[in-house]
Amino acid sequence: MLIVMDTNAGAEAVARVCREIEAMGLKSHPIPGSIRTAIGITGNKARVDADRILAQAGVKEIIHVTKPFKLVSREFFPDDTVVDVDGVKIGGPEIIVMAGPCAVESREQCMTIAEQVVKSGARLMRGGAYKPRTSPYSFQGLGEDGLKILAEVREQFGLKIVTEAVDTEVLPLVVDYADMVQIGARNMQNFSLLRAAGRQPKPVLLKRGMSATLEEFLMAAEYIMAEGNSSVVLCERGVRTFADHTRNTLDLSAVPFVKRTSHLPIIVDPSHGTGKREKVLPLSRAAIAAGADGLIIEVHYDPANALSDGIQSITPPSFADLMKEVRAIAGVLGRTCA
Ligand code: PEP
Ligand code: MN
Repeated sequence: MLIVMDTNAGAEAVARVCREIEAMGLKSHPIPGSIRTAIGITGNKARVDADRILAQAGVKEIIHVTKPFKLVSREFFPDDTVVDVDGVKIGGPEIIVMAGPCAVESREQCMTIAEQVVKSGARLMRGGAYKPRTSPYSFQGLGEDGLKILAEVREQFGLKIVTEAVDTEVLPLVVDYADMVQIGARNMQNFSLLRAAGRQPKPVLLKRGMSATLEEFLMAAEYIMAEGNSSVVLCERGVRTFADHTRNTLDLSAVPFVKRTSHLPIIVDPSHGTGKREKVLPLSRAAIAAGADGLIIEVHYDPANALSDGIQSITPPSFADLMKEVRAIAGVLGRTCA
């Protein structure tokens, strides 16, 4: 439910309505706008007594939000959200590209890749220190040692760090080292992890579950926002279908859908989305053309010997070429790219 205040309702009137909402056992979310303030209501399990709210001074009208998601919806927040990752702004005019290996393998590996991707215009370095692997016998990541390497990359190259927290146990450590916390596809409906991510201060990169509908995806973001963290960036990374020419089917129609339904930024992962190196460039082009706010790309200088996801990793020179094309497409759309 959304309360629209009169254009001339002042701060005191807004505060009074918020107090009334809280007195009804609900949560209020004032949304100041350029013309008037709106107040979102969450926490209503039963029908809200609309007359009680309409009776308050300064209340113009009540809009019933029809979608199950509230804080993530454009009905609540009509303006685009720009997520600030320690100075790097995602969701504004600049296309933001995150790049790096699937997994942090060694200090040398990360330093070498970081040096090259930063030159090509990447703004964040990706790399898993904790890896959600299908097999328990596969490389699981370097853990805290990997996080320390990523912190060194930030120190040396100024790249911000995005890395995955695979469970609530490692989340606090990831929060200590990273600039942005990644929640992986396999955890998109790990509700305790989502809640915990909503209670920590770093922005969150939330990846779409491999068989999640867009409503489920947005509801997962709602879990994070409901705990007070509104810095959420969504990531389309492909879903499971009958198709077997790619690892996943990259659903680029998710981008315009999310843009219309939500105010949150959305980026695209063509690496996991296709699982095939040669498809990363064409789908990166398409993602930007579809309106994505950025990309996350797996880059490795020796894909054949990568400890994970080598088949979908592109080399640093290919990444440089990709960035040139992304920059050109961004320009056509009136956007920029470093
Ligand atoms: C990743 O980005 O390293 C990853 C494991 O991706 P996803 O969760 O989308 O499979
Ligand atoms: Mn990977």
